[in-house]
Amino acid sequence: MKSAGISDIGLHRKRNEDSFFIDEDQGIFIVCDGMGGHKGGDVASQLAVQTIRDHLHFTQGEDIVPLLCQSVQAANTAINTMGGRVDALREMGTTATIAIIRDKEMTVAHVGDSSLYLFHAGILTKITRAHTLAEQIAADGFLSDGNRPNSGYSHILTRAVGIEPVINVDIYQLGIANGDQVLLCSDGLTDMMTDEQIGKVMAISGGPELKARLLVDAALANGGFDNVTVLVVSV
Ligand code: CA
Repeated sequence: MKSAGISDIGLHRKRNEDSFFIDEDQGIFIVCDGMGGHKGGDVASQLAVQTIRDHLHFTQGEDIVPLLCQSVQAANTAINTMGGRVDALREMGTTATIAIIRDKEMTVAHVGDSSLYLFHAGILTKITRAHTLAEQIAADGFLSDGNRPNSGYSHILTRAVGIEPVINVDIYQLGIANGDQVLLCSDGLTDMMTDEQIGKVMAISGGPELKARLLVDAALANGGFDNVTVLVVSV
């Protein structure tokens, strides 16, 4: 397994509120995109990465899913508590997208509008579903797929780590094969590139470092309106 991560402040923001973490030995990959308060965004995403990382220690044979959910809940409590105590950090929160890759299986925990994609046999598939008002309305059948990207609702999160005392975590589990690639990214990438454009980059030959670089450069070339974080894993 090889991997690479890049986080870029973008061309318009004063701070980078994204955080990411890679542990190839344990197969742990995390992307968090923070938000809120005056200074809360970067604090929330860093605190989430740190707390989740500290909770994820695997030995043999334990069940990954409860451990993952506990780690996100611990991050939620840490951010919610700090946000309640410090005025400048009030209502801070963060997305969290975590992939655990081991023994030809990937377990994903997900909250918010960062994304995880699987590139398998030349086809890019978005695995996670964004917790945005646009997705919620679409799921309820009121907004067609074609209206989603430009909808004013596409940036309103319905769920984020740290906002409420208890967090509901989406879990996905799927098989993974040699030659597959996994992409975790913040919305600074997906707002600047279509899935088709991302798929074209994933299809070229080259390692995770090259692809992470090309994706970040493309997001910047397309406007770089937000912080952009890209983490590519080659299995
Ligand atoms: Ca963002």
